[in-house]
Amino acid sequence: MTGLHDPDAVPAGESVVTGGPDSALSGGLAADGEVPGALAGGLAADGEAGGGPGDESAADGEPAAVVAFWRDLGLPGLVDVHTHFMPPNVLDKVWNYFENGREAGQAWPVAYRRPEPERVALLRAFGVRRFGALAYPHKPGMAAWLNSWAAEFAARTPDALHSATFYPEPAAGEYVAGAIEAGARLFKAHLQVGGYDPRDQLLDPVWGLLAEAGVPVIVHCGSGPTPGRYTGPGPISEVLVRHPGLTMIVAHLGAPEYGEFFGLVQRYAGVYLDTTMAFTEFFERLMPFPAALRPQLAAATDRILLGSDFPNIPYPYLHQLEALARLDLGPAWLRAVCHDNAARLLGL
Ligand SMILES: [Zn+2]
Repeated sequence: MTGLHDPDAVPAGESVVTGGPDSALSGGLAADGEVPGALAGGLAADGEAGGGPGDESAADGEPAAVVAFWRDLGLPGLVDVHTHFMPPNVLDKVWNYFENGREAGQAWPVAYRRPEPERVALLRAFGVRRFGALAYPHKPGMAAWLNSWAAEFAARTPDALHSATFYPEPAAGEYVAGAIEAGARLFKAHLQVGGYDPRDQLLDPVWGLLAEAGVPVIVHCGSGPTPGRYTGPGPISEVLVRHPGLTMIVAHLGAPEYGEFFGLVQRYAGVYLDTTMAFTEFFERLMPFPAALRPQLAAATDRILLGSDFPNIPYPYLHQLEALARLDLGPAWLRAVCHDNAARLLGL
């Protein structure tokens, strides 16, 4: 713990949410703090007043619109590497944390605050063929437990990518090896919520095992929206120097250090970026993607993967897809990003 988080706060869902005061919701997205889903309705294309994911009409319309998005591209569906599934009691605390504005002092309405079976059913209705089911610890002694829950979740959810995590602690090498052995196909590390140094010696065997096994790890290492002690391109770059064969997916396109992380993509064949929250109106207000970097998006077509942060987003899932389409990089780019790159990387 770095003191950035309330000790009761359980693994905060996302750093965007656990960011410091004034950061995440400075756009005034949710003024009254009590209306999960209201924001989603506000951004929904159909503009139904008061509509939200809890609202039947909005809920009914979104899957068809998402399906139309990928069908129009000629895709068989979507692959979303960055969604969150956690033990229900943990997720519930995370949601309370978001919606009570524990740090930001404002509400963050979770658009898809629903029971797990409904969340899985919704991803299926969207045509998400495979999804990363990410959990991560904010303190020692938690990762192995999260991993056992995640293994069980993956076993009963065949379209979930068996996901796992770790924390710098003496047992890390052993339980990461165990998770790989048990079939984990995707790992998650969150440097801001975890508050740890990725160069920690206790993690050296972990990075080594992941590189050796060729199992991708999604790392939240950008400094957005609030820098952590070890976020930014510096510390994680040293991990790549030491483990150049690592397959690393930088979350949130590396925001706000977009340019530096594109640099890592150029330098290392195994570095990818996920789109999670990038280009959405919400993110653009906080950490706008620099227009000067647009050519890099096209140059890295085969290294960008769709991520959404479902279910912990304060807008509809469709908005992430529309935000990507609005970049106007063309259907080939969208096909690569929304499906083909992840399918290739994960052997789907
Ligand atoms: Zn996330």
